[in-house]
Amino acid sequence: MQAFTLDKEQIKDMFMETEKCCSLCGSDLKFDHNIDHIKKEVVEEAKCTACGIRNKKRYFALQ
Ligand SMILES: [Zn+2]
Repeated sequence: MQAFTLDKEQIKDMFMETEKCCSLCGSDLKFDHNIDHIKKEVVEEAKCTACGIRNKKRYFALQ
């Protein structure tokens, strides 16, 4: 079974495609990308600076 892995450029591309505005209020979202070196994955979290809602959390496996 092949694991779903991405290199850093692919991860950057996927982040670029992510919507950058809050779906509720339209304000800019703040993105946090935390790399978990133990699990070897990137956690992406989008948070609206205006209403504080956390939009999405995505996980990417690192090679
Ligand atoms: Zn908002």
